[in-house]
Amino acid sequence: MTRSSTRLPLAAWDHRYLWHPFTQMEEWEADTPLIIEKGKGSYLIDAQGRKYLDGTSSIWVNLHGHRHPHLDRALTRQLRQIAHSTFLGLTNPPAIRLARELIRLAPKGLRRVFYSDNGSTAVEVALKMAVQYWQQIQPTAGPKQSFAHLKMAYHGDTIGSVSVGNIELFHARFKPLLFPTHQVEPPYCYRCPLGRTYPSCDMACIDPLERLLETRHRELAGVIIEPLVQAAAGMMVAPPGYLARVRELCTRYNVLLIVDEVATGFGRTGKMFACQHEGVTPDLMAISKGLTGGYMPLAATLTTEAIYRAFLGRYDEWKTFFHGHSYTGNPLGCAVALANLEIFRREQTLAQVRKKSRLLARLLQPVAELPHVGDIRQCGFMVGIELVENRETKAPYPLERRIGHRVAQMCRVRGLLLRPLGNVIALVPPLSMRPRELTKMVAILHSAIRETTENLASAS
Ligand SMILES: *Cc1c(COP(=O)(O)O)cnc(C)c1O
Repeated sequence: MTRSSTRLPLAAWDHRYLWHPFTQMEEWEADTPLIIEKGKGSYLIDAQGRKYLDGTSSIWVNLHGHRHPHLDRALTRQLRQIAHSTFLGLTNPPAIRLARELIRLAPKGLRRVFYSDNGSTAVEVALKMAVQYWQQIQPTAGPKQSFAHLKMAYHGDTIGSVSVGNIELFHARFKPLLFPTHQVEPPYCYRCPLGRTYPSCDMACIDPLERLLETRHRELAGVIIEPLVQAAAGMMVAPPGYLARVRELCTRYNVLLIVDEVATGFGRTGKMFACQHEGVTPDLMAISKGLTGGYMPLAATLTTEAIYRAFLGRYDEWKTFFHGHSYTGNPLGCAVALANLEIFRREQTLAQVRKKSRLLARLLQPVAELPHVGDIRQCGFMVGIELVENRETKAPYPLERRIGHRVAQMCRVRGLLLRPLGNVIALVPPLSMRPRELTKMVAILHSAIRETTENLASAS
């Protein structure tokens, strides 16, 4: 069979055998699937050889571009050793080296690495560690086993991580399965729930959390938060100092701070971890997405020596952390993650991101002028563009108009792949995206937003 004749059945087989995540499959079945065969740098290449800019970094995981020679080499080199051996009762060189490197780069005070496979499990591990920690350090006190989190938080799709999340559209169906939590209003400067304006607001948005901690700290095991940016909520950027205040409050009220750096980690915000912008060390930190530069599914939960030590004891004290996965500490994932971190040094990635973030901000200025752009929020290489029906009143587009989806469709025809978050266009390019490519990406987006919103206005 020739290559082109094998392509056609693939689309049909996809429609026949697959079920895609976060996808209305009726709509998917009615459309021709975009089959990505290859990638190179900032581009994805489909089965027909068409090139698209990867405007989502393949959902926030890719950092240094596709087919980076250093990452390709690290994987093939590890393949000549071994693909996988269990981490239960055994260990392996890439996992050991990676843990040492992560601790070197992590906020000071984090000293232990517990591996898993994805962001959701890294969060689950943090929640379970927090609950067991309090049982073991204060066995006679009242139970300290509930969690506080922000509304609109997203921490993953497994039941524990959904319990501490709050995105109505994703989570409502599963309420019967979730454990109860305490939710507080998040900082959202564009639509401040308290009706204040930054910066004269004195960060009043911290008050709900402070009040909760004051009254409930005895029963709270931890506060979980996405540092600096609530990503899936629509790239909501917290005011500077908010995270540092959360840290202070957690310390004051003796509640663990769990930071979910799954989206913000590995240079996305211009520092290795978002916490480091505010000199914050959490008690537990979940990382995944960028950990392997978008090559392999791998995650980790980092914690302090104090928490780790609370799990030590004789076997029959039953303080073991009984949690693990078949692929924990996978050598292929760890080897490519190590190479991923080496690229940060070799290519001065963080300095480059900070410089190119300023360029990106300048490029976005004309977009902010468009009549249906309500707000542009940016933190490094994470951008959210909130589209509104009416700029003066900030009236949102009804969700069923699918404005974000329409803009993304138009971008796709013009060679840019995006995945919107409702009415928010998320722009999360690979950290390696070149200035010329950033310019092209924003130009495509600008024309797509302008034309889509004009078309919609004239149709109604
Ligand atoms: C993506 C994401 C997760 C979940 O990670 P998965 O690997 O998709 O399970 C958790 N937290 C945040 C902040 C994320 O962006």
